[in-house]
Amino acid sequence: MRLAIVGTGYVGLVTGTCFADCGNTVVCIDKDASKIDGLLQGKIPIYEPGLQELVERNAREGRLSFTTDLPKGISAAEVVFVCVGTPQSADGSADLSIVFEVIRSIGEHVNGPKIVVIKSTVPVGTNDRALEMLKHAKHPVSLASNPEFLKEGAAIDDCLRPDRIVVGVREQATADTLKTLYAPFLRTEKPFLSMSPSSAEMTKYAANAMLATKISFINEMANLCERAGADINDVRRGMGHDARIGFQFLFPGAGYGGSCFPKDIRAVISMANNLGSGSSLMLAVDQVNEDQKHVLGQKIKSQYPNGITGKTFAIWGLAFKPRTDDIREAPALVLVNMLLAAGANCQVHDPEAMPNVKRLLGDQITYAAGPLQALEGADALVIVTEWSEFRSPDFALLAQKLKDKVIFDGRNLYEPKSVASAGLTYHSIGRVTAQAER
Ligand code: NAD
Repeated sequence: MRLAIVGTGYVGLVTGTCFADCGNTVVCIDKDASKIDGLLQGKIPIYEPGLQELVERNAREGRLSFTTDLPKGISAAEVVFVCVGTPQSADGSADLSIVFEVIRSIGEHVNGPKIVVIKSTVPVGTNDRALEMLKHAKHPVSLASNPEFLKEGAAIDDCLRPDRIVVGVREQATADTLKTLYAPFLRTEKPFLSMSPSSAEMTKYAANAMLATKISFINEMANLCERAGADINDVRRGMGHDARIGFQFLFPGAGYGGSCFPKDIRAVISMANNLGSGSSLMLAVDQVNEDQKHVLGQKIKSQYPNGITGKTFAIWGLAFKPRTDDIREAPALVLVNMLLAAGANCQVHDPEAMPNVKRLLGDQITYAAGPLQALEGADALVIVTEWSEFRSPDFALLAQKLKDKVIFDGRNLYEPKSVASAGLTYHSIGRVTAQAER
């Protein structure tokens, strides 16, 4: 099939590339000329494992191309995917201005019958509003919704092997076309679920709301465990073996971040307010998460009752999760800002996210080439993102390097006993602090 993807970010570039990899001819469109120029020279604007090779191969073989020219980009396409951002507005709702700008532009330039698919995460009713905008288009447009469920860090795998495909359609023929397009991804009998556009739009928010709820739930239990002298790791094992509960998304930590959960939860709250139903559960999920982003900072403050002015903290991990360079709403940024405001120095290392943080914070912090370099001259270590290279350090070496011999671990990467026996005090989440054995 001939496809156009409008918005070449995390979702658009991965989706377009995966469709091209199945033999479709795909044009990726973006209004950011520097991004498109880079892609035309083989430079991938984001870090996503495996993406570079896949883009290069499909571009080389002529199935994947890039442009800033929307009218030209959509001209040959049978299906146009809208994958632009839907950031949070000042009032918490999803800002749909880019989606509507693109829909209007497609309406103006459509040169034949097309299927237009909204893949961006949008509140219920957006598809209906967009359809209104397309009413006067010169050619018939069938407008579908097809929310995306990929996870950054595993986006290609998620795209090529999704758990399910959800489409919201008004015409059976559109569902049939999209089913054919997705067939190569659904060869392991995963379902293609066709429903109304409103249900498809809601499905995406409901899924993210459930996942965020699980994270805030386990974080609240972790904080309770700490005060009660229980160990959240034992508790989650005891819970997770219950088949009704399971283990997924029950890892306590420094709070969720990223481009999706925070804004999507607030969009659900805004939707619920607008529809008059209220959303006390989502309000609580959001509040628990905001508080959780400060838990590491509070632990640091209680370890240093005389303040941290002039202290140097090594920080491992800046991205909101491992295997991505995305720092949107990352808990590490909350921590770094708190440390800087309190007069401390930060020496950070992240395998992929440092260029993005540098654009934001510049020279306020020091960027280390590796995890060990970040420890040079540091008083304490703080772990915020669970990159696999942080999982098995040499604790004796850490004890030698860290002047105050203390680790604050926001991801529970280590067995407290092994850390303490190396002579390090170990603070983690939902577990009693392990005091250094000297
Ligand atoms: P992104 O910010 O990475 O990418 C959006 C792209 O759209 C950018 O490259 C931007 O330059 C481009 N753009 C903006 N205005 C444009 C215009 N008028 N014409 C053409 N291009 C334009 O965003 P993303 O993370 O890919 O998210 C896109 C949507 O998908 C959002 O609604 C998001 O909630 C949803 N989503 C994201 C993820 C994820 O993990 N990132 C997962 C599922 C769903």
